[in-house]
Amino acid sequence: MKIKVLTALLLVAVTAAFAQQERPEMKPEMTEIWDPEVTVITPGEKPTDAPSDAIILFNGTDIESEWTNGDGGKPGWIVEDGCVTVKKGEGVIKTKRVFEDCQLHIEWRSPAEVAGESQGRGNSGVFLQGIYEVQVLDNYNNRTYRNGQAGSVYKQHPPLVNACKAPGEWQTYDIIYTAPRFNKDGTYFTPPKITVLHNGVLVQNNVEVRGPTVYIGVPEYAVEKHGPGSLVLQDHGNPVSFRNIWIREL
Ligand code: MG
Repeated sequence: MKIKVLTALLLVAVTAAFAQQERPEMKPEMTEIWDPEVTVITPGEKPTDAPSDAIILFNGTDIESEWTNGDGGKPGWIVEDGCVTVKKGEGVIKTKRVFEDCQLHIEWRSPAEVAGESQGRGNSGVFLQGIYEVQVLDNYNNRTYRNGQAGSVYKQHPPLVNACKAPGEWQTYDIIYTAPRFNKDGTYFTPPKITVLHNGVLVQNNVEVRGPTVYIGVPEYAVEKHGPGSLVLQDHGNPVSFRNIWIREL
């Protein structure tokens, strides 16, 4: 953010300086910004691998370092075979750390053995700041309401396309999230914005979120001001698995 402000100020200063002069001859270097140098990081070998500046939230074995259950206790979900799987009735798991603007990578798998239909098949969810849900659902040959299917911002924005893989296959979400900014009265100055790539395919293009996710009713645009929040994964009663979860704070 500081760098954006510095860059903007510099451009304003350069523009103002030239405005006061009589059309000086522009040279290429006059609009080149060298400092501060852009931070160097090391990207992952594959796009799904965490880059060097990411926080690893789940590496396939250790869930307790970064996650708790909904009450702050030990997560009750099952960790085995390099992934963590919803254990029905245990409730959500949530990160100990809290986040605002971020880039999130998370991989999920709905059960290979198909059970249920519509919202009852492979349902889970990724809640940004704990309250804005990107739906996780097995929508491979499974119709449901369009604004509630995999890759939707639940009940608010349907995905642009259905990019689901078959049940039992690993799928990726890459989510870019801009947290809301608030007015003094607690209403959004700018609402949350979400971009989602599902299996590498753009399904949400910087959509504006109306308010916290609700199952019944219309989300309220005027919400109470909130600060950073945990990343929360939903227990919807289906044994959905997750792996390779990493996040970059923006
Ligand atoms: Mg859900």
